[in-house]
Amino acid sequence: MNTDRLYFQDPYLRAFTARVIAGRTADGRPAVALDRTAFYPTGGGQPNDTGTLNGVPVVDVVAEDGLVWHVLGGAAIPDDSGGGSHAAGASGVGARSAVLEAELTGDTIAGALDWPRRFDHMQQHTGQHILSEAFIETHQAETVAFHLGATACSIDLNRVDLPPGALADAEAAANAVIDAALPVTATFYAEADVAALPLRRPPKVTGQIRVVEVAGCDWSACGGTHVANTSQVGLVKVVGAERRGAETRIAFLCGGRARADYARLQALAEGLAGRFTVGQHELAEVVDRLTAEHKAVRKELADLEGQWVESAAAALWAAATARGALRVVALAVPQPFERAKRLAQTLRARSGAVVLLGVAGERPQLIFTRADDVALDVGGLLRTAAAAGGGRGGGRPDWAQGGVPTSEGLDKALVAAVAALPMQENT
Ligand SMILES: [Zn+2]
Repeated sequence: MNTDRLYFQDPYLRAFTARVIAGRTADGRPAVALDRTAFYPTGGGQPNDTGTLNGVPVVDVVAEDGLVWHVLGGAAIPDDSGGGSHAAGASGVGARSAVLEAELTGDTIAGALDWPRRFDHMQQHTGQHILSEAFIETHQAETVAFHLGATACSIDLNRVDLPPGALADAEAAANAVIDAALPVTATFYAEADVAALPLRRPPKVTGQIRVVEVAGCDWSACGGTHVANTSQVGLVKVVGAERRGAETRIAFLCGGRARADYARLQALAEGLAGRFTVGQHELAEVVDRLTAEHKAVRKELADLEGQWVESAAAALWAAATARGALRVVALAVPQPFERAKRLAQTLRARSGAVVLLGVAGERPQLIFTRADDVALDVGGLLRTAAAAGGGRGGGRPDWAQGGVPTSEGLDKALVAAVAALPMQENT
């Protein structure tokens, strides 16, 4: 015996009665097959329906060998749907076992769909048929895949070279079909008769083939649930396009999802405009102005930093310790590291300079360098000094960097570095 799929004839049926004809366990959850059902099982890009059987949640619906299996959830939900279930008010376990025992007793059980979820799927799915046809009409782009997710819907097109404006063209064509309020019907055809229909894609099934027609506009072999009139799709909005190999993935929203997205964008734009106390139409101008100001401030900061580095270098050089022909600058300066680096670079340009900088902060660092006319391996010196401070580092003979874990370590490293400097020229 096969399950009679009531949604084929009436996709608007949201409550029904049926008999349990088989029971089993699916991944540790009980599941029942019914003689007839309005529940849509996952397939054809459309997710399964959810809802209740005698108040017990249906968490998954799977089609297998002509049967539609309803996987039951753990606990009963309160029966507030007005479905008139005879198990209303029953405890979760009791209600569930009543559903499972209905196979033995022959009792009828009452099914009820989560209608907002199903109607959303109908809007997205019919919108997809219309949009797929619109991409063919406007840009000869064929749909090779369809995905209906919990929040996002997408189709994959067999083209990656869509011209500018293609998305808007297809969207406009799709919305014109919605505005035309065309009937959407589903009809079963014998396989031989299908060849005479202008199907958008060849059917993937054989035998009796269900064809969904958007009157005079699109014919698709499809087992999904659809709205009865294109006007019920409400709106198709393309919200993104992304190249994926030899295909283009088009993200879109229909009906209630598109309206919710419009509300989200409206709130976003209003919130931003409120923060800058401007009208929405002035937002781009504000962003341009802030970007220009930010750039100018950064430039000024860089100039000031350059001046600071020059004067700090001059002051440090004047106070440098003489060791024979060498003049040693050894101290800790504050972060940022890049500024300390500029300071070290400026100092090392002076003849005889030995520069041993600590960069104080959360992760203290060391920068050792020296003038080109000084014969000293600061790489080796830094290795020794960092080790004395509990850290590590190294580098070239004329430039080295490292790090120590603490500010105490930084002090120790600098003391160790100065102590390790060669004394031979100190006369
Ligand atoms: Zn379809």
